[in-house]
Amino acid sequence: MSSGEKITKIEIDRELCIGAATCVALAPGVFALDKENKAYVVDENGADQEMIRLAAESCPTKAISLFDKEGKQIYP
Ligand code: SF4
Repeated sequence: MSSGEKITKIEIDRELCIGAATCVALAPGVFALDKENKAYVVDENGADQEMIRLAAESCPTKAISLFDKEGKQIYP
């Protein structure tokens, strides 16, 4: 993943999410856990780009997908 692409959309696959909360720990302004212990996006602009990338990369089940403004998937 190159660093030039701007993240404009974050998607979380609830089937994949195991509630490990790594994403929440890294970017609490962006991710939160709901009552079922599944992550959801609170604010796509709640952290800087690098932190959002790091959070996505650190998800143990790769449940977090990132998209650029053209809708192209940039992670994973
Ligand atoms: S790091 Fe991945 S598995 Fe853990 S809460 Fe976030 S999305 Fe779910």
